[in-house]
Amino acid sequence: MKSRDEMVADADALLHRLFPICRSITGPGVRETLAVMGRTAPFAIREVASGTECFDWTVPDEWTIRDAYVADASGRRIIEFRASNVHVLSYSEPVDREMSFDELLPHLHTHPDLPAAIPYRTAYYRRAWGFCLSQEQLEGMDRNGRYRAKIDSTLAPGSLTYGDRVLNGSGGCEYVISTYSCHPSLANDNLSGLVLWTLLLRELSSRQLRHTYRFVVAPETIGSVVYLSQHRDAMRDVAGGFVISTVAGPGKLGYKQTYRGDSQIDRAVRQAFRELQTDFVEYPFTILGSDERNFSGPAFRIPVGTICKDKYYEYAYYHTSLDDLRFVSASSLVETLDVYLRAIEILEADRTYTSLVAGEPQLGKRGLYTSIGGAVSPQAGADDVNTILSAAFWADGKTSVLGIAERTGLPVGALAAASEKLASAGLVRAEPDLP
Ligand code: ZN
Repeated sequence: MKSRDEMVADADALLHRLFPICRSITGPGVRETLAVMGRTAPFAIREVASGTECFDWTVPDEWTIRDAYVADASGRRIIEFRASNVHVLSYSEPVDREMSFDELLPHLHTHPDLPAAIPYRTAYYRRAWGFCLSQEQLEGMDRNGRYRAKIDSTLAPGSLTYGDRVLNGSGGCEYVISTYSCHPSLANDNLSGLVLWTLLLRELSSRQLRHTYRFVVAPETIGSVVYLSQHRDAMRDVAGGFVISTVAGPGKLGYKQTYRGDSQIDRAVRQAFRELQTDFVEYPFTILGSDERNFSGPAFRIPVGTICKDKYYEYAYYHTSLDDLRFVSASSLVETLDVYLRAIEILEADRTYTSLVAGEPQLGKRGLYTSIGGAVSPQAGADDVNTILSAAFWADGKTSVLGIAERTGLPVGALAAASEKLASAGLVRAEPDLP
């Protein structure tokens, strides 16, 4: 495993390298982004042609943006795509026209509550063009002036790009780990998710795994629909997963529950926070969110949760130009990565054992128990005794290692190691994983 400092340095380098790229649900910015991520952690990059039917959706035309601006009568560019790609309404069709302020105004979008911020707006599924600008910029415009609006873009048949990689485990279950690639220069939502996904993929690909992890990076909504429609059979067997979103803000760590609220994913995440002794905000499942809406929908019902740091909707700069590299930090990102890793380690260790002896096993004669009995207060080694006795006591074929941890407050890793000692001594047997 890389050291924490190396992880933070790698996260920082990726954040800075990827931030300026103009991403959308399709187009060259997404391809460039995935290519850069793949240099840190390789995965397959796939293209799905415009017009492809996927369940109730159709892959749209591909969007390419080269330049966009609004210039005043003197030719001075007052709204400039090159200054911030958030300035252009994502999926804008081309335009090149002179017009009055009143003609231009319906195409201008601001965020009056945050007057210095450029809002992020999209028009994926209807033809439109527009610019986003700060309320302050709008108020500085001459209402009697004439303007030239120019968007040099192409909307034409092409393809939607996504990436995936399956890390095969030695047995166990399968989990999906996804993130979305469609937001332009916005740091917490969701460049941070892309970077965490990449570092998590690299880290897990260096480990021996019991479970299988299916990593997916695709544009939000349409990408998960495309992915599910193209991997329908494989996705039916997935036991749970995560959508990685908004993971590097300055605020509190958070967790958005799966649609079930009590699934193994929910329990593993709560246990991870307990073991890391980290305070967090828990958000109930709501339908407003991200790709869990598709992964957990009626046809698949995969319990999918999100560990975040400054969750989407919850911070003032959400979906604005102020969600930039000053708002996020690589060390916050790695803090969230630690929680994902701990939750996955808990999933890896979580098995159910069945006792093979009636009554308490005699641990002492197998060297599994302190040889001097009768201590009246907890002493050195008492934790080990508590752990191995708990592992033996709860080996009822129903209570998993995670369940024992929840009942006893003991860490999953120690309980799993104790259970394996009991199994090696022939005192318990591991149950096969349920799909
Ligand atoms: Zn978003």
